[in-house]
Amino acid sequence: MQYVSTRGNAPDLDFEAVLLTGLAADGGLYVPSAWPRLSGDDLRGLRGRPYTDVAVEVIARFVGDAPSGTLDRETLAGLIDKAYSVFDHQAAAPLVQLDADTWLMELFHGPTLAFKDYALQLVGQLFDHVLARRGRQVTIVGATSGDTGSAAIEACRDRSAVTVFILHPKGRVSEVQRRQMTTVLSGNVHNIAIEGSFDDCQDLVKAMFNDLAFRSEMSLSAVNSINWVRIAAQITYYVAAAVALGAPDRAVAFSVPTGNFGNVYAAYAARQMGVPIDRLIVGANSNDILDRFFRTGQMRKASVTPTLSPAMDIQISSNFERLLFDLEGRDGAAVAAQMDRFRRDGTFAVSERQLAAAQGVFTSARLDDDGIRQEIARVHRATGMIVDPHTAVGLHAARTAGAEVAVPLVSLACAHPAKFPDAVEAAIGQRPAVPARLRDLFEREERLTTLPADLRAVQEHIRSRAPVGAAA
Ligand SMILES: *Cc1c(COP(=O)(O)O)cnc(C)c1O
Repeated sequence: MQYVSTRGNAPDLDFEAVLLTGLAADGGLYVPSAWPRLSGDDLRGLRGRPYTDVAVEVIARFVGDAPSGTLDRETLAGLIDKAYSVFDHQAAAPLVQLDADTWLMELFHGPTLAFKDYALQLVGQLFDHVLARRGRQVTIVGATSGDTGSAAIEACRDRSAVTVFILHPKGRVSEVQRRQMTTVLSGNVHNIAIEGSFDDCQDLVKAMFNDLAFRSEMSLSAVNSINWVRIAAQITYYVAAAVALGAPDRAVAFSVPTGNFGNVYAAYAARQMGVPIDRLIVGANSNDILDRFFRTGQMRKASVTPTLSPAMDIQISSNFERLLFDLEGRDGAAVAAQMDRFRRDGTFAVSERQLAAAQGVFTSARLDDDGIRQEIARVHRATGMIVDPHTAVGLHAARTAGAEVAVPLVSLACAHPAKFPDAVEAAIGQRPAVPARLRDLFEREERLTTLPADLRAVQEHIRSRAPVGAAA
């Protein structure tokens, strides 16, 4: 399988290169040169099979033909087994029925209790395997405002080929989120609290990648949400849910709380592969740039408002570029021109025909913080279930924008409510029960280093602690 850049001006790469590369050299994102297919018989063959079998069936199609001894099917299956063995539910992504035709897909059974584990656990295994085979070491550097950092740390801990440095803004992540990162005491995990904001952290990471000498000296790498392999791994749970609810003989629809557009794009990818998905509902919080786009065809940037669903507090949804590539007829130059416009003017628009094509698949809805509290309370009254604020956005979108859907509708539970106890308490007057994985979190030892928002200081710190730096 070959991958092409959405901006049409970077070398084509194979699966392993895409795994290790992340962003394309022309600033674009990698996508498969053609969509692999899951036929009706392929889908029927997946009925009743474990989650890991579905994952092999999906992800092997994105690896393509690999020379034996590299990422052949057997090796891939072994890595997939290891990745999902740490999940605490046999079905990995179980469906819970809410009413006659609505289901909740629980995506919080991984080590950090949010859906990012479903992709990052596998990416961690793949990174380690491919790098060890090549005799290489990389230094992963990332910034986090909360959930991504802990998922990346859990995915990389104790892996010999990677050393991971995660920057978070000191005092500006919740105590649960901080402790999920800083209580991982593995020698290859380094937490840095930056005296500054999340934007400062992100700027520092960008500056390190732009310092080409430092980048090559440290073999810098990223596991951020534009990595194609994260998308490929996420396609699995859409296929598993569709098959469980009757695909290929019955279609389904999904409602997805959306920030960077990675998760809902994976659902779109499943549809492109042949899974019968009638409709995709994009749930937005007050940061509603995508909701406005799907109504008007115009993308217009606004400033970011902090909300009760912080993982969706995003104005530039990087993975949207992958959908735009298809809307533009896979014309990389056209995508590059649109993205240039967006960077320069903070806005771009698609044609009526392109908007109609997008609206043929996607519907959207938005929910502000008052609405989130009301939705958590409504679900609790109706079902006794406690949902997190992100899940509430998806459920509300399913109920409103999904009212016309005539097939089973699956809403995604992207995080465990115990990660957001204050928002839950504000909505229903009680705190969610603490799951086993978090039970002794507040007794565990923490390890972190505090540094000023200063590039030289952070680079010195990383250089002195990464094995590649120490060896150089
Ligand atoms: C990351 C995240 C999202 C947003 O997902 P995208 O793939 O960025 O659209 C939503 N909810 C939770 C809990 C998350 O961690």
